[in-house]
Amino acid sequence: MSATPLLQAHGLARYYGGHRAIEGVSLEVQAGEVLGLLGPNGAGKSTTLGIVSGNLAPSAGQVMIDGIDLIERPRQAKQYIGYLPEHPPLYDDLAVDEYLRYCARLHGIRRTDLPAALDRAKARTGLDEAGRALIGTLSKGFRQRVGIAQALIHRPRLIILDEPTVGLDPLQIREIRELIVELRSEHAVILSTHILAEVQAVCDRVHIIHRGHTVFADTLTNLAARGRSTSLLTAFAAAPDTETLSAIDGVTAVHALGTGRFRLEHGVDADPAEAVAAAACAGGWGLRELHPEHQSLEQVFMQAVYAETREEIPA
Ligand code: ATP
Repeated sequence: MSATPLLQAHGLARYYGGHRAIEGVSLEVQAGEVLGLLGPNGAGKSTTLGIVSGNLAPSAGQVMIDGIDLIERPRQAKQYIGYLPEHPPLYDDLAVDEYLRYCARLHGIRRTDLPAALDRAKARTGLDEAGRALIGTLSKGFRQRVGIAQALIHRPRLIILDEPTVGLDPLQIREIRELIVELRSEHAVILSTHILAEVQAVCDRVHIIHRGHTVFADTLTNLAARGRSTSLLTAFAAAPDTETLSAIDGVTAVHALGTGRFRLEHGVDADPAEAVAAAACAGGWGLRELHPEHQSLEQVFMQAVYAETREEIPA
């Protein structure tokens, strides 16, 4: 990893009148990294991405792209950035090639370089055969590919994707995720989402925003290595009732997860796994699953988001 991050954003704030959309948000992305910006609806993801892409002025804070100040030198810094907004401005009446040519010109690509830039962007996003298709006739997955193609046509070092898989069907989601993973070989990527599985599938680093503030930021590798387990996940074909499970030595709380699955909490120094297995054999419960639960992104998310709102964490 390089010493100087490709993106360094520090102390970002944005107010709409008296309303605080974000405050004190700082982000870093290294070259070759995929950063997932995660948060519930209205958390401030789009606002943050609008600012770091140079499309929204911050009320406070600094954004450096490869050492260039985005607010003081926007033209230079924006050459390094490709941006897919939450609602990309696609023109239904244009063919894919026409639209990409137009975007390429906006990014300052010279006329003589246009054919190669178009071919490359289409090849990268699986649009090779779609150049003549009218954008209005494309499926949502292909429209999203066009949006990503315009974001990378000028070969930016950083690609910013605001909710790239929202509204897509499961197959299209998988295709776009595979595309994002491929992008990493040439670009750093920031994507926003409120889908935890998306972050787990494609990201190196996660940044959780809630109510305009950062509530968690770390790599997924550190997250996986963090902390000892204090719960067991278990499943039974013929599940006992929760009272029976609660009575097992060392179990401090039981959460029914549905279809015979349970989360059994225990103290840091206790491990009731053997006792659960023994009780399952003796009771004929049909043990199907029994393993320690390491801190997952879902737990981190629930704790970070619900701890701040002081709401009860659902089981
Ligand atoms: P979503 O996942 O729903 O897109 P988000 O995390 O992207 O949400 P933002 O769109 O950044 O959140 O919004 C953050 C907060 O700022 C919200 O409370 C939103 O209502 C508010 N906000 C965003 N844009 C504006 C605006 N133009 N005028 C007033 N308030 C705004």
